[in-house]
Amino acid sequence: MSLQSAERRDFIRDMISDDLASGKHQAPVTRFPPEPNGYLHIGHAKSICLNFGIAQEFPAARCHLRFDDTNPSKEDQEYVDSIQEDIHWLGFDWGDNLFFASDMFDFFYECAVALINKGLAYVDEQTVEEIRAQRGNVNVPGQESPYRNRSAEENLERFQAMKNGEIPEGKAILRAKIDMASSNMNMRDPVLYRIMFAEHHNTGNKWCIYPMYDFAHPLEDAYEHITHSLCTLEFENHRPLYDWVIEHCPVPSRPRQTEFARLNLTYTVMSKRKLLQLVQEGHVTGWDDPRMPTVSGMRRRGYTPAAIRNFCQTIGITKFNGFTDVALLEYSVREDLNANAPRRMAVLNPLKLTITTLPEDAEEMVEVQNNPEKPEEGFRQVPLTREIWIERDDFMLDPPKKYFRLAPGRTVRLRGGYCITCTDYRQDADGNITEIFCEHIPGTIGSNSPEGIQCRAAIHWVSTRHAVDGEIRIYDRLFTEENPDAAENGFLSVMNPGSLTVITGAKLEPALAGVEPEFNCQFERLGYFVADRRDHVPGQRPVFNRTVALKDSWAKKQK
Ligand code: ATP
Ligand code: MG
Repeated sequence: MSLQSAERRDFIRDMISDDLASGKHQAPVTRFPPEPNGYLHIGHAKSICLNFGIAQEFPAARCHLRFDDTNPSKEDQEYVDSIQEDIHWLGFDWGDNLFFASDMFDFFYECAVALINKGLAYVDEQTVEEIRAQRGNVNVPGQESPYRNRSAEENLERFQAMKNGEIPEGKAILRAKIDMASSNMNMRDPVLYRIMFAEHHNTGNKWCIYPMYDFAHPLEDAYEHITHSLCTLEFENHRPLYDWVIEHCPVPSRPRQTEFARLNLTYTVMSKRKLLQLVQEGHVTGWDDPRMPTVSGMRRRGYTPAAIRNFCQTIGITKFNGFTDVALLEYSVREDLNANAPRRMAVLNPLKLTITTLPEDAEEMVEVQNNPEKPEEGFRQVPLTREIWIERDDFMLDPPKKYFRLAPGRTVRLRGGYCITCTDYRQDADGNITEIFCEHIPGTIGSNSPEGIQCRAAIHWVSTRHAVDGEIRIYDRLFTEENPDAAENGFLSVMNPGSLTVITGAKLEPALAGVEPEFNCQFERLGYFVADRRDHVPGQRPVFNRTVALKDSWAKKQK
């Protein structure tokens, strides 16, 4: 076993180790089984990191990607494609092990016929209302259907009629014959097949009966020789049915289901139905809107695969359902970008500063460090001129205590450049500062604490002559409530109206104009930013998304 798996301990990895030690399995085979009815989200990422992670850690192990495409009505090729792209982007690969449940329709059908022949399944032709009325509840046993004791011959004939399209939708279903008095509602003669006259993205119009999840899923696992079928806790009381299907159908292997807690994140909705609603009703710009908790949204926002994987490792795998603070995800992103993202300078809210002691045509290349966390990445040359842009809030006329940036008479360092002292400023009729004037102190480039000079802050800047105008999109959380699903008037009522702010006149250091889409960097002192995957055009139209601020501003607000 590799070192990694020794480090990552949880009850599932322990169970797999035990199964290998006892000789029950030679190698674990896991699967990630998305239904292609939406884009992947951070909850799926947790499952991907678990299933594909196990395949990477244990020798000879593998993880299948299986599209659980048994419900034609909501599935689409667009989702099939995006899911594959997202898994690859997260850093995982299924190799040759790509499966579609829809390729197993013949096998499911054979299994249903086998159950009928054993007297373990029957075609029920009651109305939906009648069947519902017989279900009972946790305290009241259900009643048996009048169709329950049909002969195998009759059931086979009716099931074939279902398959041949001779029975209209809703007029017949195939049910397992288990126990209408079971304390587990899932065991009260559950539905195995229903009629749907719908075109399937893979099988077209070949089928008009489709298997239910609880019947198809164990069969898919068995068909693929999955050893450990890992799913979320909601399926715990479906496990007896999972085992029943495996027990009674002609299956080539005997997989075992184990449940773990799903990921819930604060300030986030994760249900695919709600994410689809956000997209369809235009509350966001698409599945990959940088505010979405989708893998493609997080990618566009500038989150890195490593940050997402680290987050999934940090939260671990348990049996306890609860909420994870979204700040923990943001922390993982910040950690990764702090270590790896190069630093650049950009001024989002520009104020003009003139260094009166430099000549009109001054242009000096100064060296600015690329990444203090990675000294090996060295320095870059940035042009310094007489007129520069600085951040508006780096100057105050009447600064409070502990404000160490520019003010009349104050000295600060220009990052990588000179120390400068403010000598004058200009205001408009309303008292707004329109321009400030400074004198530079020669010989202060490169010396950290020039003798006799009181300079307690370094600020970022961009030469006005070299600056490139850019569009900056500042993203914040999509919801204002910790648990939007619990909002009295629905999750849409607690959307954050300030979740997107667009800044158009930002001033960027020239090197930022030419970067490729998805270039990640820190804008010094402002946060981490990424060149937008869709809208940034190198050399023509710089567009950057704020990935995450340098510090957690929500933590402050909550205090
Ligand atoms: P929905 O019920 O919203 O349609 P789903 O979560 O069932 O979506 P699937 O496509 O069936 O979506 O999920 C694929 C896999 O991802 C399943 O094995 C599921 O258990 C896992 N998964 C989905 N959501 C989460 C989550 N929040 N945390 C952990 N695993 C998850
Ligand atoms: Mg599902």
